[in-house]
Parts: sequence; C-alpha cells; structure tokens
Amino acid sequence: MEDMIKMNIKGIIPCPACSKKFVFAYSDARGHASVPCVRCGRISMVDYEKMSATLMPPLSRKNKVNAK
Ligand SMILES: [Zn+2]
Repeated sequence: MEDMIKMNIKGIIPCPACSKKFVFAYSDARGHASVPCVRCGRISMVDYEKMSATLMPPLSRKNKVNAK
C-alpha cells in the first residue's frame, strides 16, 4: 500500500460536524463523494473541486439508490 502514500495529497478536508480532518483528497480526486466521518459517523458530501464538505441532511440517508 506504499503507492497510496506516494500519491500527492492536495488537501485534507475537515468534518463539518466535529472538525475531524478525515478526507484525504488526492491530486487526481474530482467530483463529489459521500463519506462517513471516522469520529462522529455523520455522513458528509465532499466536494473535491472546492475542497469542502457539507453535512448530508438525515432524510437523504433514507433515499434508496436506484443504480442502473
Ligand atoms: Zn465528524
């Protein structure tokens, strides 16, 4: 797994709820991802372009994912 360490990290995004820096954004990261915080467990929508995270509203967790 040392290849992961060698990748360029462009920043670490803090959790909007507890400020824990939990998302490592690599230099080729793009778009958005929903990531659960390692400390408080809240799910955040991470924007790799803006290098920011927004808490997901609780309702959105109940939505079923219709993957086609
Ligand atoms: Zn957190």
